[in-house]
Amino acid sequence: MDTELLPFSQYLESFKETLKSVFYQRDNIEQFIQKRGFPALVLRDIMAKNPLSVGIPKEYGGRGVIMRECLAMLDAASYESLPLSLTFGINIALFLEPVGKYGSEEARKSIFNRFMTQQNMGGLMITEPDFGSDALSMQTYCEQDGTNYHVKGTKHWQGLTGMADYWLITSRKKLDNGDLARDIDFFVCDVQQSQQRIIVEEYYNNLGLFPIPYGKNKIDVIIPQSYKLIPESSGLNLMMDLLHRSRYQFPGMGMGFIRRMLDEAIAHCKSRMVSGKPLIQLDQVQHQINKIQSAFTVCSAMCARSAAYAGVEKNLSPDAIEANSMKAYVTDLMQMAAQVLTQLKGANGYKAESVSARGIIDSRPFRIFEGSNDMLYTQIFEMVSKLMVRQKNMNLLSFLKGFKLTQQVAERFDSLVDFVITPKMPQRKSVDMGKILSRIVSANHVFMMETKGFRQDLVANCIENLKHEVAMLVSSYQFTSAIQPVEDYKESSSWFHC
Ligand SMILES: Cc1cc2nc3c(=O)[nH]c(=O)nc-3n(C[C@H](O)[C@H](O)[C@H](O)COP(=O)(O)OP(=O)(O)OC[C@H]3O[C@@H](n4cnc5c(N)ncnc54)[C@H](O)[C@@H]3O)c2cc1C
Repeated sequence: MDTELLPFSQYLESFKETLKSVFYQRDNIEQFIQKRGFPALVLRDIMAKNPLSVGIPKEYGGRGVIMRECLAMLDAASYESLPLSLTFGINIALFLEPVGKYGSEEARKSIFNRFMTQQNMGGLMITEPDFGSDALSMQTYCEQDGTNYHVKGTKHWQGLTGMADYWLITSRKKLDNGDLARDIDFFVCDVQQSQQRIIVEEYYNNLGLFPIPYGKNKIDVIIPQSYKLIPESSGLNLMMDLLHRSRYQFPGMGMGFIRRMLDEAIAHCKSRMVSGKPLIQLDQVQHQINKIQSAFTVCSAMCARSAAYAGVEKNLSPDAIEANSMKAYVTDLMQMAAQVLTQLKGANGYKAESVSARGIIDSRPFRIFEGSNDMLYTQIFEMVSKLMVRQKNMNLLSFLKGFKLTQQVAERFDSLVDFVITPKMPQRKSVDMGKILSRIVSANHVFMMETKGFRQDLVANCIENLKHEVAMLVSSYQFTSAIQPVEDYKESSSWFHC
């Protein structure tokens, strides 16, 4: 507990030392990474540093939920281990922050005390077997009985299944006629209480993120009213504030991960000799490393923006365009960085224990969970096109020049985006447009970071890369295609008879 009193920069350095010690001296991350769960001693030493204290308010003994500090912890962890960073992300963004903001005094006092003194953990349950992307149709329900609530249903794919001490469970109120209400209620379930045990029906064989258990959870629990979160307006509003703040924190998990990919790529390509020359002298290799470096700069800019903007005091429910842009784009960048590094490392990159191969597998689901990227890109475009219609301005460049999230950089993309768009178009086009918008919103973050002193050569390279990406996406957007998959394709389609 003593380290919590240190100034944050000192605390962070000492936390990084602990990570180095547990991952490379006390244990060997390359060996344990393919086994399920963190080795007990590794987790014990990490948690002894109380890393989750950054997500706990000062009045309960924590470091005060300062967004910059939360992001810095995620960043430090993901340089060494993406699963560890995701474990922190789950606890901080999906549990501690919403409990701190919307929990009753009674619940907060007891929960934060157990996090600070017993290294407890908490996760979030939204997804159900039949309702994932369509989460608002969830069937888990709650019924009030005096001062308690009965919550019943089935959830699956929860990070920390069978391991967390607390769960934030989402449900819909059962109405008198048996229907379920539209709004969502949140309950904190304490699995240490006899009436609040959650039965894990099955553990899943997840492809990566081995230290984190996933599975199917049967919920049939009685929860006191004081453990129901109290929304400011509706539960849906609470949910959007929670999910958006979490999406604003994805760059924290991306940051250390992408920096690691970059460091490994530069180190490898400087030392690997091919045809008598270091790989890094090849133009295509430089191009590939530039892509990772540009991802590093974009992700840094997102972190700087989130640190300044996305604090718990703010209601982020209206900030869907920015939150979705960050989540979708940074997770695409994480996957790209791991793929590029694996290629640059050649055959050795394909060893299961290599940091790049692990990186591909571990970062892959980030594009699926907390809103699949295709859905988020579609939503970005839909929201922007509504604004354009309202302003009666369908010229993209002209709109971006006046839009608060893009106005600083719109001109740099002038010739690329100077065209008129139609609000109604096939979804594949909306996805292209969502991607274009997310890249330009990110360029704006990069520009803003430069004004605060970030080095200019990285910014210039990054903006150039973003323009290249936008040019390719605009070309895809303008290519007219409505081809449909041929579902019944078996007849006359064998090469053998041709
Ligand atoms: C590693 C991992 C960790 C997770 N952690 C948690 C957790 O801690 N808590 C929790 O509650 N859940 C968690 N999930 C569940 C996750 O949030 C869901 O898997 C996700 O929301 C997608 O739901 P689904 O799997 O039912 O897919 P579906 O809803 O069936 O969607 C499948 C695919 O269809 C496409 N699709 C769906 N809707 C659209 C759309 N509108 N536009 C375009 N394409 C679309 C997308 O490609 C999508 O990936 C986790 C999942 C994974 C893999």
